[in-house]
Amino acid sequence: GSFVPPIRNNGSNVGNMTSRCAGKNDDALEYSTKACLEMLCGPDGELPEKLRNLEPRLIEHVSNEIMDRDPHVRWDDIAGLEHAKKCVMEMVIWPLLRPDIFKGCRSPGKGLLLFGPPGTGKTMIGKAIAGEAKATFFSISASSLTSKWIGEGEKLVRALFGVASCRQPAVIFVDEIDSLLSQRKSDGEHESSRRLKTQFLIEMEGFDSGSEQILLVGATNRPQELDEAARRRLTKRLYIPLPSSEARAWIIRNLLEKDGLFKLSDEDISTICKLTEGYSGSDMKNLVKEASMGPLREALRLGIEITRLQKEDMQPVTLQDFENALPQVRASVSLNELGIYEEWNKQFGSLS
Ligand code: ADP
Repeated sequence: GSFVPPIRNNGSNVGNMTSRCAGKNDDALEYSTKACLEMLCGPDGELPEKLRNLEPRLIEHVSNEIMDRDPHVRWDDIAGLEHAKKCVMEMVIWPLLRPDIFKGCRSPGKGLLLFGPPGTGKTMIGKAIAGEAKATFFSISASSLTSKWIGEGEKLVRALFGVASCRQPAVIFVDEIDSLLSQRKSDGEHESSRRLKTQFLIEMEGFDSGSEQILLVGATNRPQELDEAARRRLTKRLYIPLPSSEARAWIIRNLLEKDGLFKLSDEDISTICKLTEGYSGSDMKNLVKEASMGPLREALRLGIEITRLQKEDMQPVTLQDFENALPQVRASVSLNELGIYEEWNKQFGSLS
């Protein structure tokens, strides 16, 4: 269409920049691919070393689909998890903001693992790190590397780390990292997934030893599947547990206040918190959504047509709405699963 991406034009020899990219010559490239490569060129108009010999379409995919320029999550959006926030602050945010102080003995690890039940805020922490440290955020699900990019995952991993090194400081968030760095050496393990894993570890090794400002954050619900090599590279391992009662109260209040629907008393909130023992952050969000349908349904029941319904026709959400919503939205994590995380945390987690 008519969209024209901003292109840096410093009069350099950008026309030639892809000559050393794998495969195609400039004329064969789409306009959007060219624009994307131009953004990554150095002041000399040349593609950085790491991106040469990579296929332009992979670089474009990383820049457009995996890179997120503004992840929109701040620390204050995350309920509870004080221990994790404190560790992340020291290990990640300060070093990214002050690389001059965090060197030598203080040089930080370059790999962080967030493990725990699903829906507890691991992805939110990854995004908040990038937001708070003013770093570029790259987010990829490891299972998409193995399923969607069959046979090409290895190349995509190279492109990912290559683009990240041009966009420093950078945070690479890998969701479901266990599916990439799993210890299972079953007969079914394909040669290609073994190569993918090796490539990934090589890339990590590369930036771990260098002075690059890249942090890898892996998230997993199955930490017990990670092998020793993966654990060694993910030096800090933080347990992200289910939200405490206070954190659940905070999530309810925060979500309802945002929509101007909050009128619950402290006593109501405390009752809801008692009834939601074992709920994850994501379960809480779903519960609030379901509960906030209550006043809408009630207004319709009283005969107001949906097309004529005004905001003022709906009452704030009540304790009764929550009680009605509870059977619809159950806790998604079982007690059994929690035991596994706690054991693993005792053995391998960074406890303080
Ligand atoms: P995970 O990566 O651990 O599976 P997410 O970070 O994707 O979970 O969380 C899913 C959703 O659940 C978030 O978008 C948010 O709405 C809610 N949520 C989960 N944990 C928290 C939390 N600690 N504070 C606030 N909201 C949370």
